[in-house]
Parts: sequence; structure tokens; C-alpha cells
Amino acid sequence: MLSWDEPIPAKPLQPAAGPSPRPAAMPVPRFPAATSVPTPTSLGLSGTTVRTATHVSNDEVALSPADEALRLHSGTQLSKDTRRVRVEDKRIINGAADVNQLVPFKYKWAWEKYLAGCANHWMPQEINMERDIALWKTPGGLSEDERRLVKRNLGFFVTADSLAANNIVLGTYRHISAPECRQYLLRQAFEEAIHTHAYQYIVESLGLDEGEVFNAYHEVASIRAKDEFLIPFIDTLTNPDFVTGTAANDQALLRSLIVFSCLMEGLFFYVGFVQILALGRQNKMVGAAEQYQYILRDESMHCNFGIDLVNTIKLENPHLWTPAFREEIVGLFHQAVELEYRYAEDTMPRGVLGLNASMFKEYLRFIANRRAQQIGLDPLFPGAENPFPWMSEMLDLKKEQNFFERRVTEYQTGGALSWD
Ligand code: FE
Repeated sequence: MLSWDEPIPAKPLQPAAGPSPRPAAMPVPRFPAATSVPTPTSLGLSGTTVRTATHVSNDEVALSPADEALRLHSGTQLSKDTRRVRVEDKRIINGAADVNQLVPFKYKWAWEKYLAGCANHWMPQEINMERDIALWKTPGGLSEDERRLVKRNLGFFVTADSLAANNIVLGTYRHISAPECRQYLLRQAFEEAIHTHAYQYIVESLGLDEGEVFNAYHEVASIRAKDEFLIPFIDTLTNPDFVTGTAANDQALLRSLIVFSCLMEGLFFYVGFVQILALGRQNKMVGAAEQYQYILRDESMHCNFGIDLVNTIKLENPHLWTPAFREEIVGLFHQAVELEYRYAEDTMPRGVLGLNASMFKEYLRFIANRRAQQIGLDPLFPGAENPFPWMSEMLDLKKEQNFFERRVTEYQTGGALSWD
């Protein structure tokens, strides 16, 4: 089910010669008339922009084909084309088929990931945190460096999954025209909410200073730098005036999807995952480690879904994958590795748990190579090896198999309806 160690075979795509097959004209005017006002901070950490709309009657403007497509994708208008959906009309982006009709399936991989995500359902409060609480409250139970690591770790994650949710709900979802992929994105959005819940639950269980932890992305430079890197790519998709349909905009979408899946969910999360899981392997913070194990499993699926999405968009739109675009993506990979390495140094300035920042340099290079290969790029750091082979085992969750078997049964029977 999980494919962390099953790299998707690289399918190098030849950039197409010649012009984009997509319509070059952008819709003018847009509906409804609107102005976008940037959020007050330069960061725009809300992950969106404020939209003030003056409603214009649908009858007052003649819609261009691209405008009409946008409305159809938004589900605000039913198609005038009442023919039954044909598989061959479905596309990941800029599709013409009705987004409200899930079947006939074309992207079965997305539907299967949706089913797998549902089968792995879990909730944070099901995990016992008593041992973590006792350890945290015991003077000398953890070293000062271990406490710093836990707090900085949570400092990144408590807001990261909210940024991920914004990206999906306010951005990516409306640009994707394949209903199978939208179905998975809805499941993914809920899992991001569960992860935010899990981090909050750990913070609350340990009695940490909530203001300090939740404000870390404003106050801790190494965390803020990661988010500042991500925000422009999220803002592209959440900008209410952004639509696909031109080569430039389709590349902007593809760039943001690559940053989100390969660099945010696929790289920026991994120093944090290793840290808490390493604590768990030393029999410390075992409840938190169990939560992170389930989160890692979900996030691995998110990452793989995003990579499948990227690769399918490339196959359907080979003209987007130009040498200049690939070069730009490689540059972003290098930036992300550097930022994540700085975060590793900041969270472990002296080395802790037998881990040190230089081990993470090698690990990040190893992961960056995998992500690059998964989207058809050459490895960025030839020869990099995985210093934490046990991380792959974590994904198997064999020890917890019974947990999931039990949960499936309980979720099926525990939610009986009451009409009282
Ligand atoms: Fe995610």
C-alpha cells in the first residue's frame, strides 16, 4: 500500500516542440468583478489573500470559454453539455468532463489512494499519552537539548499542516478537474486537520506554552524561513484570480504542486519525523512517537499522491516540462535542502539522541535525490546514502497492524445513529 521504498520509475518526458495546445487567451472580464488585497504581512502567512467582491449578475458579462471552464470546475454552474462523461474527456487540469461525476474512472490510482487513506483512519485521542506526560514532568527525565528539540519540532508542525490544508482547500482543489483526484484531496484535507489536532493534543498533554509553540513560525528564524519559502507557491494557487489554461499558468500550477508534494510534504517534514521517531526508539515520548508514526504514514501517501499528480500532468501536458522549467525546479530543491538543514542545526545545535546535524545533511540529500527521481529529474547529490534505514521500517507499521484492524471494526460499529 505504501510506496516510500518503491520509487515511481522515472518517466523522462521530452519537452514538446511547438506551441502549447492550450488556449492562449485568458478570460476577460472575470466573474464576479473583484479586487484582491494582499494580507497585511509580507509573509501572508494566512496562506491566502483577502477577496472583496462586487457581485455582477451572470447575465451582464459574456463568458469566455476559459471563464466557463472555471465555473464548471468550481461547481457553480452545471454544464450545458449533457452528454454522458467519457473517460477520454477527463484530464487532471483543464478537463472538459463534468467534475461532479466520479465515474467512469480514469485515474484509478487516485481512487485507490482515497480508499487506502480511509482504511488507515485514526484519531489522536486514541493514543495514550500518560507515559509522555510522566516523563516530561520528571526533572531530568529528558535533557535540555531533548526538550528544545521537542518544542522546536512541534513549533514547525503545529502550523505546517494548516498551511497544507489551506493549500488544498483554498487552492489546489479548484484547479484539478479530475473528480477521482478531488475525492482524494478531500480525504487529504481531513487528514491535515487530524494532524493539526494531533500536534495540539501533544502540546496540551505536555502542558507546553501554547503561545510559544504556536507562534514559533513567527518567532523562530529557521521555522519562519521554511514557511517564507513555501508561501509564494501556496499564494499562487489560493489567489482567487489565478486560473489555469495558459502554458505560463499551467507551469505555475505544476511548480506549486512540485514544491508542495516534493519539498513541503516530501522533505520539510522529514527532519521532524526522524527526531520524534528517534526519541520513541529510545523509549522516550512513546505516545508522541506513535502519533508521528501514523502521521508519517499519511504524509507518505500525500507525498506519493502529489507525485503521481505531477507525473500525470506532465504526461498530459509535455510542453510544460521545458529545460528551463526543470532547471528552475532543481534550484528550488537546492534551496529547500539548505533551509531544512538549517532547521536541523537549529533544533540540534549540539547533537542529541545519537543524531547530529551532519547526519541530516546526508539524509536530506538522500531524500532530495529520491524526490527528484520520482518526478523524472536526475539525482541532485549522486551517491548520497540513507543514514536512517530504520525510517523505512517505521512506515510498515507492522507492530500497529492490530491497532488498525481494531479501529476499522470500531469505526464501522461505533458510530451507530441515535434518533433521540
Ligand atoms: Fe499532508
